[in-house]
Amino acid sequence: MARYYRKPAKQQKLARERITELFSQATLRAQKQPELAKRYVILARKIGMKYKVRIPPELRRRFCRHCNAYWTSANSRIRLRKGMLVMYCLECRHFRRFRYK
Ligand SMILES: [Zn+2]
Repeated sequence: MARYYRKPAKQQKLARERITELFSQATLRAQKQPELAKRYVILARKIGMKYKVRIPPELRRRFCRHCNAYWTSANSRIRLRKGMLVMYCLECRHFRRFRYK
């Protein structure tokens, strides 16, 4: 029977470190190599899924959930509307909304 289980804490810790590392690499290359940054995002998300690790909240709003593009000022647009922060992805026309106070 399928049961909820966690991967060992050691592996989860390692996975978290790899995710953070991948995102910092993506940040460094997003301007010049957006395709590479996109691959890092995909990899980081895959690691997160495999080891059941959440992507840290501060990193979660830096990429497009739909096409995995790493958002920079060149491929995203941020607007404030009715107490919501709306982030548009210019690559796939998808948008995400976040609440803000
Ligand atoms: Zn997108």
